[in-house]
Amino acid sequence: MNSRVTDVPYEAARRRAFAVISHPDAGKSTLTEAIALHAKAITEAGAVHGKAGRRAVVSDWMRMEQARGISITSAVLRFSYRGTLINLVDTPGHADFSEDTYRVVSAVDSVVMLLDAAKGLEAQTLKLFDVCRSHGLPVITFVNKWDRPGRDALDLCDELAARAGLQPMPLTWPIGQAGEFHGVLDCRDRTMVRYQRIAGGAIAAPEKRLESAEAAAQQGVAWWRACEEADLLAASGGGFDHERFLAAEASPVLFGAALLNHGVRPLLDFLVDFAPAPRPRMDATRRPRYLDAPFSAFVFKVQTGMNPAHRDQIAFARVCSGEFERGMVVTNGTTSRPFATKYAQQAFGRQRTTLDVAYPGDVIGLVNATALRVGDTLFGSGPPVRFPRLPSFAPAHFAVARPTDIGRGKQFSRAIAQLRTEGVVQVMRSQRRGQGTAPVLAAVGPMQFDVALHRMEWEFGAPMTLEHLPYTVVRRLSDPSQRSLVDTGRRSEVLVRDDGMELAVFAGQVELAVLQRLWPDLKLDHLVGGIG
Ligand code: GDP
Repeated sequence: MNSRVTDVPYEAARRRAFAVISHPDAGKSTLTEAIALHAKAITEAGAVHGKAGRRAVVSDWMRMEQARGISITSAVLRFSYRGTLINLVDTPGHADFSEDTYRVVSAVDSVVMLLDAAKGLEAQTLKLFDVCRSHGLPVITFVNKWDRPGRDALDLCDELAARAGLQPMPLTWPIGQAGEFHGVLDCRDRTMVRYQRIAGGAIAAPEKRLESAEAAAQQGVAWWRACEEADLLAASGGGFDHERFLAAEASPVLFGAALLNHGVRPLLDFLVDFAPAPRPRMDATRRPRYLDAPFSAFVFKVQTGMNPAHRDQIAFARVCSGEFERGMVVTNGTTSRPFATKYAQQAFGRQRTTLDVAYPGDVIGLVNATALRVGDTLFGSGPPVRFPRLPSFAPAHFAVARPTDIGRGKQFSRAIAQLRTEGVVQVMRSQRRGQGTAPVLAAVGPMQFDVALHRMEWEFGAPMTLEHLPYTVVRRLSDPSQRSLVDTGRRSEVLVRDDGMELAVFAGQVELAVLQRLWPDLKLDHLVGGIG
């Protein structure tokens, strides 16, 4: 008999999959590292990134990322904390990579939204809140950089309610601010967690719990002010309500300074105690896939070149049901082809270790999975299952791609196909330009083009040039017989995406309006945020 415990619902219940999302520079990489430090997954900050010091970014495998100091790709950190297995999926912060962030968000069960104390809700943050809302994902808010001068705590909470439409529910409240930030009030039991500053924040900061009387005696006015403000919010509907958190109507709020490792443990504890464990996922026919059904997962991210020594491809899949055992043969629901999972790994920053078993909530990295694409469903025994396709965003930037060296046409085509598989850019053909000609690349943000240009040259040895097209507005053309109405001149045309969808693109709103007035029967659909 198999001696291993295979109680899938039990295993799922002790797992958490979450992502940290934020505006760039709010401190996402720093917080990720601080979390890993508290969970003792690393012993010194910098270890995740293979560098010393706190300036490193999580996925710095691309030279371009280093040059720009931004994190473009996501990495998955998996560690255990208080007996719970945590899969922390990192996301790129820059708005240009929002499509990538969207895919990650579809693979987690809750989200930590990180705010910079001095900046509050930034434009990008609001967009991300919308994405979470559209997924019905519970959001935990962490206000970071409290060791620096910033905005008023009550003010930030008001903004959360007014602009993100989420009732703030403080779990901790800061005691003092900037140089006087000494700790947080634990709103639930009225104790103080006092922190000691450690130069550089390389190790978890020593912390001490103080009872209310002791905290009041030590902190004086700052303590009473914190209590008063927290009470004020609790009185206006901000008392902790687990159901409202799970329903994505209210957001627990915590304060801290990730760089100093202050306020991070309450966040981890909350994730373990209250964040949702994996739940049955809806399949493409809107039927729940129960956790104890046979193995199923979907691919939300495909990435190459994580190991600069040899270019490999790793597909990240989120397990939705059943038990995964390395070596098992699964079926790719998109192609109906079998796929052997001999090289399953867990990724931890740059390090990877073999993963032998996985359960719902886990993220598995499938190495050399060249047949897998973003959005593919994988399943084990039993009837086939398909999860809904991940939406692709409405692109706003278009460019014709041509190989710089026409002798390298084959490498060029192969490399473009690879970038498409990874979802770096969308690839389209232009009817007007004729079949077999240079593809049109489309992106949500222009930086995706920079990544594509860079990788074509440095990774694939097939440099390309981009001829930018003037289009900014895109609609879905629902009736192919109307193609000729749009495909007229230089200000609008029809592009066919490689999934077969026909897209009508326009230089601007004016061109769209003119055509619609001319042809009132023209059937064009919005591609709001994403399409299936
Ligand atoms: P990301 O772009 O969101 O990943 O941000 P990083 O983690 O790279 O942080 C951006 C900058 O903010 C870096 O210089 C960090 O050292 C700094 N930073 C992050 N957290 C804190 C904090 O709690 N306090 C202070 N003072 N600086 C922080």
